[in-house]
Amino acid sequence: MPYFLRAENYQEKYNNSDKERTQFYGRNGELPIRDSLHLSPLAKVLQKIAEKQNKTDIHGEQDYEDNLNDGFLDGFRIPRLNIDAFGKRADTYSSFLKPEETKRKNLAIATHVQANRIIFDDKKQARAVEVNWFGRKYSPRCRKEVVLSAGTIGSPFILLHSGIGPALQLKRLDIEPIVDNPEVGENLQDHVTTLLGPFLINKPITFSLARLMVNPFKIWEYIINGTGPLTTTVAGDSIGFIKTNKSDNLGPDIQYHINGVAPYSDFGAFFHKIFGFEGDWWKEFYGPHYAQDAVTILPIVLHPQSRGRLWLQSSSPDDPPYIDPKYYSHPQDIQTMIKAIKLILEMIENTPELKKFGFELPAEPVLPMCQNNSSTHKDDNYWECFARHLTMSMYHPTGTCAMGKVVDNELKVIGVDNLRIVDASVMPEITSGNTNAPVIMIAEKASDMIRNYWGLPILNEAKQHVTRNTTKKKDEL
Ligand SMILES: Cc1cc2nc3c(=O)[nH]c(=O)nc-3n(C[C@H](O)[C@H](O)[C@H](O)COP(=O)(O)OP(=O)(O)OC[C@H]3O[C@@H](n4cnc5c(N)ncnc54)[C@H](O)[C@@H]3O)c2cc1C
Repeated sequence: MPYFLRAENYQEKYNNSDKERTQFYGRNGELPIRDSLHLSPLAKVLQKIAEKQNKTDIHGEQDYEDNLNDGFLDGFRIPRLNIDAFGKRADTYSSFLKPEETKRKNLAIATHVQANRIIFDDKKQARAVEVNWFGRKYSPRCRKEVVLSAGTIGSPFILLHSGIGPALQLKRLDIEPIVDNPEVGENLQDHVTTLLGPFLINKPITFSLARLMVNPFKIWEYIINGTGPLTTTVAGDSIGFIKTNKSDNLGPDIQYHINGVAPYSDFGAFFHKIFGFEGDWWKEFYGPHYAQDAVTILPIVLHPQSRGRLWLQSSSPDDPPYIDPKYYSHPQDIQTMIKAIKLILEMIENTPELKKFGFELPAEPVLPMCQNNSSTHKDDNYWECFARHLTMSMYHPTGTCAMGKVVDNELKVIGVDNLRIVDASVMPEITSGNTNAPVIMIAEKASDMIRNYWGLPILNEAKQHVTRNTTKKKDEL
């Protein structure tokens, strides 16, 4: 928690004297947190409904008004966002790195550089990184340690190319093993979802790309003021968390993103390509509804039991890795997805306020690949088929260099020296929600661990959380 708070720059609404609220917010960090600059009319309707559905916060109290960060366990909210004052996503480069770029003499940023592998000396200490920059190889050396933050796909990929991984497989690819660790690249976890819908809406109140693109005023409003419907995230008119398994002490097991946008609002032009789906069935399934307003709901399996993996196809860092996410390979995950679909359908069915806007799941056409399973939306077989064909990632891959298996509790790579990993790959288990803020929290904590290890003072209030289990490398100071 102190590291989440340290990263946050929450700017609105509650004054500092409201302790109940402010204990969950940081105000002095780099990562901006704001209310959405534009809410669709639908978001406001959903919020009203959510107020009825929401249950309790951690104190067991009804908590209608606030947000997804203050400890509530069950219910729907309009999410707050990491956006800048113009509604653009506040990514880690623009929030953390860019402001330091001109201030620090000891920071050099190079882009379009591909890291190939870590180079070790004969004591297995990381000494340099081999990189490829526009076709030429360089090996910048490190004086203290290398911090690898290439993400859940990139970090194990680089480790494997550096000889850290399953020795036999590496040898077969002519990569000299340095550490035999079969766990590198295993334990891949992701939040699997599907495009539930289209829920047809009988009023022009959803985000329609086609409608906005022919409206010069809306485009002008966005370019000049950074306001208006084009600042919407689309992906978060309402977000819900539901805990169906009350017997465990984990967080919610299902998440919903309710998006006031149809997946066909581009009239079938390119969205399906972005998601990696074939155009034929997309057109057959969505074509009859083009131009109709619709809502899409993403039900998400938060605690997947399935475990995927990645491995190398060759010894060349220019060849991408093979990735098998193994979605739904564990039977519990598809059961959770079916449960999630049926729960939200039931909620919609029992919410008359929504029916005023249509919110109709059309009986026809059914997903072409599932015609033989059943033609009724009430049927588990149909929903299983639907989720298995219209399978999507929430883009939250984690776990391929898991703490305890590939890195230790200070994020140092097991079996070598002077090499740490700081990114989503170190999570042993995926979080019960979106992964961006947790990765930033990991990075905040890692920065203290690194400073502590090398004998530098630790930054401000999160200090007390890092002194345990750290080992200062005195001989190298
Ligand atoms: C489309 C999309 C939307 C998302 N939306 C959200 C959201 O709304 N909310 C949320 O919480 N999370 C979201 N996520 C997830 C979130 O972005 C990730 O969990 C988070 O960025 C992971 O951080 P990371 O540091 O582990 O990896 P990354 O952010 O992926 O950073 C890894 C970096 O390493 C670079 N790299 C990789 N290999 C090499 C190499 N060999 N050489 C040099 N550089 C290399 C990559 O280019 C990348 O810049 C989204 C992800 C995607 C893809």
